[in-house]
Amino acid sequence: PESVRIADLMPRYVRVNLIRMSVEEAMQTFQTEGFMLVSSETNPAELRSRQFYRDPHIDDVLAFAPKTDFHAHTLYLNGTIIQQDKASCMPAKALNPPPGSTVIDGCAAPGNKTSHLASIMGNKGTIFAFDKDARRLKTLVKLTGLAGASCIKARHQSFLDVDPLDPTYADVEYILLDPSCSGSGIVSRLDQLIDNDDDTMSQDYQERLDNLRQFQETVLLHAFTFPRVKRVSYSTCSIHEQENEVVVANVLAANENFRLNTALPQWPRRGCPGLITGRERGAECVVRVLQEMDFTNGFFVAVFERKPAGRIEDG
Ligand code: SAM
Repeated sequence: PESVRIADLMPRYVRVNLIRMSVEEAMQTFQTEGFMLVSSETNPAELRSRQFYRDPHIDDVLAFAPKTDFHAHTLYLNGTIIQQDKASCMPAKALNPPPGSTVIDGCAAPGNKTSHLASIMGNKGTIFAFDKDARRLKTLVKLTGLAGASCIKARHQSFLDVDPLDPTYADVEYILLDPSCSGSGIVSRLDQLIDNDDDTMSQDYQERLDNLRQFQETVLLHAFTFPRVKRVSYSTCSIHEQENEVVVANVLAANENFRLNTALPQWPRRGCPGLITGRERGAECVVRVLQEMDFTNGFFVAVFERKPAGRIEDG
């Protein structure tokens, strides 16, 4: 089936943990080991064995030939490189908290994006990482520890139970939300979906999507209530509008204090038109990533920002 071919063509994406090493140093190390650096313009589907390039959109990501395995590599074992899909590296980049800031990762485990935030912040500042699943949170503690990300405070707690008025969170200005979703964009899961689905999705599946959508909206609206929060990123590995553009449109309608900020302006593929309507900014602000076009998992990213005080606008 089609998706098996996509999985075979997907480069091995590696993120460099800047707490441990610069991207330049990592590239130099791989070249010393006999990997060949090729142009960032290389078509991902044409990467040959032992070739790699620096991703043209996400500057701390390197792309190697499909199935290149780094599990035994020293840089992997000591937390310098992380095997992480390119699309999954977009939310932390889009949020881009400066070093020293106070950040919440609301649905954090197993912690790939938390660790990416720490890398972007140079391990300076504080990241509160919440997850309600104890086992997954343990993995987060282990992985972020290996990455040397000592600015992370892991909390076994539902993000929805975190009190925004608790003085502990008074300085939180950035929130990353990557909540539970259908996972319908993940390459290995697409077969399943295609098998089950002609034009009519099963009613059970529709109901599941609707429950997820409600949860996703609740989590976002909760994030908007933190008194000093100025930027919130929202991401899913879902291909469904219901979990993506529809969620964005609904929370914008429910909270007039926030608007979209253009997520990753350098990324060409934007949101599905016609769903985020009646506002100054719409689908052009959000990011879509497609398996068959982009050689990554299907993905979605939106960034919200607090509107400047006292502005009357939008609709
Ligand atoms: N951001 C993670 C990463 O990049 O490694 C992946 C997050 S995964 C898509 C969603 C996570 O949300 C799961 O670990 C799940 O346990 C957690 N979750 C679901 N409901 C939650 C809640 N109310 N509060 C905190 N975490 C929650």
